[in-house]
Amino acid sequence: MAIPHPDPPGRRPTAPGDDAPPGTPATGENVCRTCRGTGRVEGRRCEDCGGSGIVTEGIGGA
Ligand SMILES: [Zn+2]
Repeated sequence: MAIPHPDPPGRRPTAPGDDAPPGTPATGENVCRTCRGTGRVEGRRCEDCGGSGIVTEGIGGA
């Protein structure tokens, strides 16, 4: 599932926990399950969402 994709200019960088780049159809932003939206895990930046607390995931189907 790890598909390399460039960071779209003008948007926040994609995070390792993202299923798709922001703005991709049929995806939406979700609270990161790893850090529960805090952006931090055990005092360190959450690697799944890149510290944003938000990940982009596919909606339905997938
Ligand atoms: Zn996170």
